[in-house]
Amino acid sequence: MPFSALTVLGSTGSIGVSTLDIVARHPDRYSVVALTANQDVDGLFKQCQQFHPAYAVMVDADAAQQLDEKIRQTGLETTVLSGAEALVTVAGLEQVDMVMAAIVGAAGLLPAFEAARCGKRILLANKEALVMSGHLFMDQVRASNAELLPVDSEHNALFQCMPEDFLPGREKASGVEKILLTASGGPFRMLPLEQFELVTPEQACAHPNWDMGRKISVDSATMMNKGLEVIEACWLFGLEVSDVQVVLHPQSIIHSMVQYTDGSVLGELGLPDMRTPIAHAMAWPERITSGVGHLDLFSVARLDFQPADFERFPCLSLAYQAWQTGGTAATVMNAANEVAVQAFLDKNIRFTDIAPVIEKTLEQCGSDDVHAIDTLLQADATARLSASELVQQTERPVLL
Ligand code: NAD
Ligand code: MG
Repeated sequence: MPFSALTVLGSTGSIGVSTLDIVARHPDRYSVVALTANQDVDGLFKQCQQFHPAYAVMVDADAAQQLDEKIRQTGLETTVLSGAEALVTVAGLEQVDMVMAAIVGAAGLLPAFEAARCGKRILLANKEALVMSGHLFMDQVRASNAELLPVDSEHNALFQCMPEDFLPGREKASGVEKILLTASGGPFRMLPLEQFELVTPEQACAHPNWDMGRKISVDSATMMNKGLEVIEACWLFGLEVSDVQVVLHPQSIIHSMVQYTDGSVLGELGLPDMRTPIAHAMAWPERITSGVGHLDLFSVARLDFQPADFERFPCLSLAYQAWQTGGTAATVMNAANEVAVQAFLDKNIRFTDIAPVIEKTLEQCGSDDVHAIDTLLQADATARLSASELVQQTERPVLL
């Protein structure tokens, strides 16, 4: 049984906490070298007390200072680092075998990239990083012989259903005809269209099946999450968007399926709890316990399927468009989405303003060829400026 040392990027978030739950269940197998968070001092401090990492990173400098004081008072031997560069440092440490990439959004790109450059096993939850940097990221994974294992539940399910010798980064597995990417449809699958503009952040964050961070919860409600996942799947499994079919499956029991040329369809089923894909990616190719309960098919009783509704969820179409445009378009779309979602959470725009902000940003920013990571960072920064201006030009909602 191999022993692995981990860096958990974004350890105080929903995925980070679930990852540490798996670590705590298997102290004979995993140890923690570094934990990182943006500014949640108390959350990171508690994790340091429990897991004794060598390093703790707080991106925010004031938060880092507060954490450092608390750590020194308790006599822990954790070194506190601050700033975004420190995220990159702890992702590439020599003593680290696995990096859980669970920072939300573009902020996770550079540390995830560093983990790839250093040939680590990357447990990829931070789909935005891959959507932004697809080609470069996959090239880096191959060049450094890194192991990229998907944690996103759908992609982890697909990975489990791929031929045994397949690894993300290889070309499309032989015999694969298409993939069926399941989606719950989020909280507004049935909401009458005219009510969409009254949707509040609290309603959007109340996902029917999954308990997640606020950004991905809004993405699930707009279905931009599924759009990001279509692109993520294309990169991971060497596919074109025409090989990916989105299937609404409100129960979230089948986490996605692979359809083979001989007519076989393989799917992975389980309760909607992220500890299953996290434990799978951490232990692969072995299996370990995750604390997730058993699936009782009799209590599930039925599984439903519907095609995706592109009128109801315009963000899904925007993601297809961005993939087809290529170049920096997906980076621009991702940045505009992050700005628009934050503006919605801050009650500065309506739910129905999110897609138009992204669409107009894509029009304004166009797409450039990508040769280096700097091109992506530049496209990200420019798109954020455009999207922020568009947000400011949008009429502030009075009803929220
Ligand atoms: P979250 O908001 O709960 O946690 C985000 C983490 O990132 C926190 O630790 C936070 O401190 C850190 N962070 C936030 N902004 C940062 C910044 N600017 N710099 C450095 N660190 C920062 O998010 P989550 O739900 O855990 O999602 C994390 C990632 O995993 C996202 O990319 C999401 O799409 C993906 N994902 C999540 C789920 C889920 O069930 N939560 C499922 C699939 C994929
Ligand atoms: Mg998912």
